[in-house]
Amino acid sequence: MGQMETEVLIIGGGVLGAVVARELSRYKVDVILVEKEADFGWGSTKTNMCIVCQGADTLEFRPEYHRSKLVWDSMPLTEPLCQEIDVPFKRVGELALIRNNEELSKFQKLKSRAEKIGIGSHKFLDQETLRQMEPHVTRQAIGALYDPNIAIVDPVRLTIALVENAGQNGVKVMRETEVLGISQKVNEFEVETNRGPIKCRFIVNAAGTSVDRIARLVNSDDFVLYPIRGYVGIFDKNLGGLIEHEIHMRPDAPGQMNIITPSVHGNLFFGTTMQPARRGDYSTTRRIAQIGLQNVRKIIPDLSEKDIINSFAGFLMFRNWEVGWHECVVQASLKVPRFISICIGYPGVSAAPATAREVTELLRREGLRLETNPGFSPFRKAPPVFNKLSEEEQMELVTKDPGYGHVVCRCETVTEGEIVEALRHGATTLDGIKFRTRAGMGRCQGGFCTPRVVKILARELGIPEEKITKKGRESRILLYKTKELLGAEL
Ligand SMILES: Cc1cc2nc3c(=O)[nH]c(=O)nc-3n(C[C@H](O)[C@H](O)[C@H](O)COP(=O)(O)OP(=O)(O)OC[C@H]3O[C@@H](n4cnc5c(N)ncnc54)[C@H](O)[C@@H]3O)c2cc1C
Repeated sequence: MGQMETEVLIIGGGVLGAVVARELSRYKVDVILVEKEADFGWGSTKTNMCIVCQGADTLEFRPEYHRSKLVWDSMPLTEPLCQEIDVPFKRVGELALIRNNEELSKFQKLKSRAEKIGIGSHKFLDQETLRQMEPHVTRQAIGALYDPNIAIVDPVRLTIALVENAGQNGVKVMRETEVLGISQKVNEFEVETNRGPIKCRFIVNAAGTSVDRIARLVNSDDFVLYPIRGYVGIFDKNLGGLIEHEIHMRPDAPGQMNIITPSVHGNLFFGTTMQPARRGDYSTTRRIAQIGLQNVRKIIPDLSEKDIINSFAGFLMFRNWEVGWHECVVQASLKVPRFISICIGYPGVSAAPATAREVTELLRREGLRLETNPGFSPFRKAPPVFNKLSEEEQMELVTKDPGYGHVVCRCETVTEGEIVEALRHGATTLDGIKFRTRAGMGRCQGGFCTPRVVKILARELGIPEEKITKKGRESRILLYKTKELLGAEL
């Protein structure tokens, strides 16, 4: 591939890189977004509790913190954004449980603070009202602080939708393109990638857990980040109706999370622990799921281990773990002109729309000319989700395309038509199909549908089944045909 050139290069196709790409597509600016993985949103964005929060009930969100401002400014922007790009967004509301008078007085102070800042439509609920809203909640709770604004989204679908909309509006999008080096020239950068060099004038470094490493490539690492590993557990959909709100309780020990929330797809998620850890170690253990279960049972006592269908770990990059995990990096480099780094350890999804506006403003101040793109359309249509359609709509779809009449993933009722559509939208791997359609995300975790999805992928991509990967690179699912292996010399 020859030399590519652009005005702005965005490194990282997580929610933050994607939202910046989409925001910049409002302007007549040449933008390339590069992502090292085979699809978008596979970094911290996929290892997420899916909550659009505002942290009004915790002192970790102080008005003087940059992060707080981005989260609070984003709150009114996220729902309209999701509507424009056709991404599920549900305002479920949040219940912070109160167990005693000491907690009550803390929450009273936090409620007044939220009102002063102007982010509060919080209400105190007594025990009876709380139990009417959430009948399964612990009897230990004497009431709750209720924030009706809190919502849930699907962060990976949000990211994919942002990238698609950015692409429709002229942004060039490159997957499986990893930034390996950056040389700083007089008025431009030359960025080395595994797909060849890219020349650019501005860089937006949105590389998630690698933001500091990418900054170091041009000696612009004027911040220090600490990796904190968070674990999340997933309950089966059959518990879907057990709670309606995101519910949390103050943890009894540091580094633990007592939180449970519905997801837009019907499963419940629960937080387990948050601990400093070696970056890149995504291993999970039964022990951690058990700690999480113990904690979440303090909120909903009826929960059982047999309903946990999976768990995952993800990394939050915090600027100041020692003094509280409250600051982010959204800044133009102090040392290198036209180089902007963004990293919001938590909650990057909730802070995304305001961060995109701020990064655009930083780029303007660094010298980027921003002229309105007359062809910009804020709208993007999501592919059909068969199990969300009415019977009539389903029939219409099946008549047009019989692939929608063939259910491939039984747990999540995902049809062949949806899988083929996901491939048309850019999925090339098993995980690409999983995050775009939910095939493999149900109770059996892909036990039934994996071989079927592999067959469809091979057929549509025109490659042998052995070449299909879980998530790109060397992650092949099938290594040999059994007979070949038996015949092979070992
Ligand atoms: C357990 C847990 C729960 C969370 N819950 C919530 C929540 O409920 N609500 C909320 O708002 N936030 C939550 N967060 C935080 C949120 O997930 C992050 O703030 C957000 O996803 C960060 O997005 P990002 O785009 O900066 O990073 P990422 O999603 O990590 O994206 C960075 C991208 O850069 C790519 N990349 C890295 N290096 C290179 C390179 N050299 N070349 C090219 N590409 C590269 C990566 O592959 C990745 O896709 C949670 C986080 C965790 C870990």
